[in-house]
Amino acid sequence: LQDRLEGAFKNLKGEAKITELNIASTVKEIRRALVDADVNYKIAKEFTDTVKDKAEGEKVINAISPSQLMVKIVKDELVSLMGGEAAPFNAKGNPAVILIAGLQGSGKTTFSGKLASYLKKQKMSPVLVAADVYRPAAMEQLRVLGEQIGVDVHLELENKNPVEIAQNAIRDARSKNKNVVIIDTAGRLAIDEAMMTEVANIKNAVNPQEILFVVDSMTGQDAVNTAKAFNDRLDYTGVVLTKLDGDTRGGAALSIKYTVNKPIKFISSGEKMDTLDVFYPERMAQRILGMGDITTLVEKAQAQFDEEQAKKLEKKIRKNQFDFADFKQQLEQIKRMGNLKDLMAMIPGVGKAIKDIDISDDAFKGIEAMINSMTPHERANPDVIDGNRRKRIAKGSGKDIAEVNAFMKQFEQMREMMKMMNKMPMGRMMPGMMG
Ligand code: GDP
Ligand code: MG
Repeated sequence: LQDRLEGAFKNLKGEAKITELNIASTVKEIRRALVDADVNYKIAKEFTDTVKDKAEGEKVINAISPSQLMVKIVKDELVSLMGGEAAPFNAKGNPAVILIAGLQGSGKTTFSGKLASYLKKQKMSPVLVAADVYRPAAMEQLRVLGEQIGVDVHLELENKNPVEIAQNAIRDARSKNKNVVIIDTAGRLAIDEAMMTEVANIKNAVNPQEILFVVDSMTGQDAVNTAKAFNDRLDYTGVVLTKLDGDTRGGAALSIKYTVNKPIKFISSGEKMDTLDVFYPERMAQRILGMGDITTLVEKAQAQFDEEQAKKLEKKIRKNQFDFADFKQQLEQIKRMGNLKDLMAMIPGVGKAIKDIDISDDAFKGIEAMINSMTPHERANPDVIDGNRRKRIAKGSGKDIAEVNAFMKQFEQMREMMKMMNKMPMGRMMPGMMG
């Protein structure tokens, strides 16, 4: 989806003025991209009609940068389609009861474990309940997960009545001062009446605070139908999108909220127990648009970056005074932040470009050597670095002159890019992160 949308916007880049004609063709491209990503045709059409209406307003037609404004309109619409704000998750109660429902293989058991682990980290004391009574392996799977994350699992191997198991578990949890009970239920490969009745019975018996419908985001259009069928029966409180790590098309996230009008509360990717994320429409929209997950990046950066310093840096970038000394400092900080490739992948537009490139964390050693060979004056005044100085820097760093020249050129390009980023509101959100 991302590729297709980028393609659609590319048509607009370089257009000095937006016209009704190029709005129409861009919108058509966007619609096709959405439909290709398994978004229901009706939803895609409605979505793009709204975008078109907004784009045809005076503002866009006369805008200085039509393509950027168009991106903003599409992004805002995506955000609102996915629910706007992050939806609250309620785990308060004595105990709070969370019911997990969905098809077999959607990731219910894995998610239950992740949720328990997530709540445990927030100093809650969760219990997992194995209410999938049909497959002994399912109970065993939950038991193993519980052991792995250090969370109690309520198991009744002989009991074939999931309603009873759930009730027993809640009573037991109360007596042990556990404050959250997560009930992992059975699923079938397709929607069927017996399964629906069973989950509905559990719901009626235990009155859960939260009923989470778990859906595999890789199932595309089917996800929407399943979401609807479950909602008709359970009137759930939220959706969990799993398997967002795979080669997932974004369609499910876009369509589900629209179809059932229930918020997506969590997204899950990977099988490790610590990869559960609260769903933020804004972030998802940015990701879909290929803007990179800027917010996450900024959050990570904030953990490491000194705010005072960041402000100074921002000012320098704004005045186009970013120099080699700043660059060196940035490199050092980035190294401290962890895996370089992961971090770079979060920078807008970079993720796809470096997907297949092997970037080792010491890829910047050569660059550091070159900066180290500069005098403080040169670092602070990149413009003074002429041919003679370049020769000296090459010698000092053990590089050849071509490498120094290439690096100088890249640095200049980076400064140009920073200048551009700064003209966009986004640039201000990520001071100094272009290194
Ligand atoms: P359940 O039948 O709904 O309980 O589904 P499970 O939790 O047993 O998951 C079914 C399969 O999908 C298992 O092999 C899981 O390891 C895998 N799985 C679950 N969640 C994810 C995810 O977010 N990403 C990936 N890649 N695999 C997942
Ligand atoms: Mg299961």
